[in-house]
Amino acid sequence: MIEDMLRTPAAMQDAERHTAHNYHPLPVVISSAEGAWVTDVDGRRYLDCLAGYSALNFGHRHPTLIAAAHAQLDRLTLTSRAFVHDQFADFCRELAALCGKDLVLPMNTGAEAVETGVKVARKWGYQVKGVPAGQANIVVAEGNFHGRTTTIVSFSTDSDARADFGPYTPGFRIVPYGDLAALAEAIDEHTVAVLLEPIQGEQGVVVPPAGYLPGVRQLCTDSDVLFIADEIQSGLGRTGTTFACEQEGVVPDMYLLGKALGGGIVPVSAVAADADVLGVLKPGQHGSTFGGNPLACAVATEVVRLLATGEFQRRSADLGERLHAGLHALIGKGLVAVRGRGLWAGLDIEPALMSGRVACERLMERGVLAKDTHGSTIRLAPPLVITAEEIDHAVAQLAAVLTD
Ligand SMILES: *Cc1c(COP(=O)(O)O)cnc(C)c1O
Repeated sequence: MIEDMLRTPAAMQDAERHTAHNYHPLPVVISSAEGAWVTDVDGRRYLDCLAGYSALNFGHRHPTLIAAAHAQLDRLTLTSRAFVHDQFADFCRELAALCGKDLVLPMNTGAEAVETGVKVARKWGYQVKGVPAGQANIVVAEGNFHGRTTTIVSFSTDSDARADFGPYTPGFRIVPYGDLAALAEAIDEHTVAVLLEPIQGEQGVVVPPAGYLPGVRQLCTDSDVLFIADEIQSGLGRTGTTFACEQEGVVPDMYLLGKALGGGIVPVSAVAADADVLGVLKPGQHGSTFGGNPLACAVATEVVRLLATGEFQRRSADLGERLHAGLHALIGKGLVAVRGRGLWAGLDIEPALMSGRVACERLMERGVLAKDTHGSTIRLAPPLVITAEEIDHAVAQLAAVLTD
């Protein structure tokens, strides 16, 4: 701790002094940003290879999104859902179209989208599927990350996320990720949903075996169970397609979206599903004061329009190949494994070499920001506006860190 303080810049110590220590940030204090680059209080520039855990898919301060936000700030920012505002219809219609679903329910944070999905699935289970009152169960995967609320941490398998936050919400069954037989075993006549990340981001960008997601889809269809895809981190262009499920040709019953939906400007999340599912909610049964507010809708509508061009998905697919080729070349030279899709990679560093944390600190010293996850794993998720040269630069800095 003392040693940490000595190495820590004054602005960093200021930031820590009156804060709960629920994060362990890298010792950098950022004051401005543009595109894939951020600048710290001393004027040093860093290539942002985390992009706010994919909340900044379009880069920092994308001009179209900033213009939409400015224009909306000058007109109307909040009404609550007690009244309708003029930004609401376009957002819901265009996001529903992007998802290929009938309806959208806007919330703010990702965790709220997950909570909404859980509530909708349970109500659907009782009212449509005919599950006896209070008996609904939802099957989730080991190693999941779906957020931080008390219900969500109830079905986390990460002891840091879960320990000492009980009593826990019942009604969840946990099965190994990627194991169809275990999933089939866990589903029974009271199962209302299977809730999964199509790629487990927080777990280290873990891609399930080929055929898993189609298998999940089939099991859900056969058992009259909703397939809920948490695409909060994997969706909206990150993997080279609009949704990660698309790469396996899979269409879930419900998408949970967040992070990039807010364009890196405001928190915006949403649940998208067809009317037979989301239609179970009636007035007064669910809501949020800020969900679907005018500023959020104005920004998120432009996010949906950026995605509708396909440009960002193409960039992620094309540049992702370059990123993964560069990283694969480091296997045996400090890396033991590389996983991921598109501009999203989880790297396992040779554990004897250094921890993920140390690797990220050294990358930071070389002007590249990334985030460790468990132990010796680090995660790269640069903004989709990153260039080929910048990717090469990031990979070169990583190579230098691993061989220093
Ligand atoms: C970030 C994340 C969440 C939670 O989103 P918050 O906005 O932090 O509440 C849920 N699921 C996944 C897959 C995430 O990556």
